[in-house]
Amino acid sequence: MIQLTTATAIESAITKARTVKPRVHVNCFGSYTVTNKATGATYTVTCEKRDGKRFASCTCRAGELGRACYHLAAAVAAHIQLAAERQAAH
Ligand SMILES: [Zn+2]
Repeated sequence: MIQLTTATAIESAITKARTVKPRVHVNCFGSYTVTNKATGATYTVTCEKRDGKRFASCTCRAGELGRACYHLAAAVAAHIQLAAERQAAH
């Protein structure tokens, strides 16, 4: 579980996500399945808000070690977009 502060903190993961372009499937708001299209490996990324702070975690090895992996970056990007759409709907 890592705390999401600024985009800069996960910038290298975002850059890698842009290169790898994993597929992000929305399970529900806050839960995403990220698939590496090249290897077929899938990981689950969870995004949540606690006390106004945003947290995210990934089930891959880097994620378990508390590192921002590209799965997490890809899912967070989808999550932010989804959150914005939900806000716009209200
Ligand atoms: Zn990961």
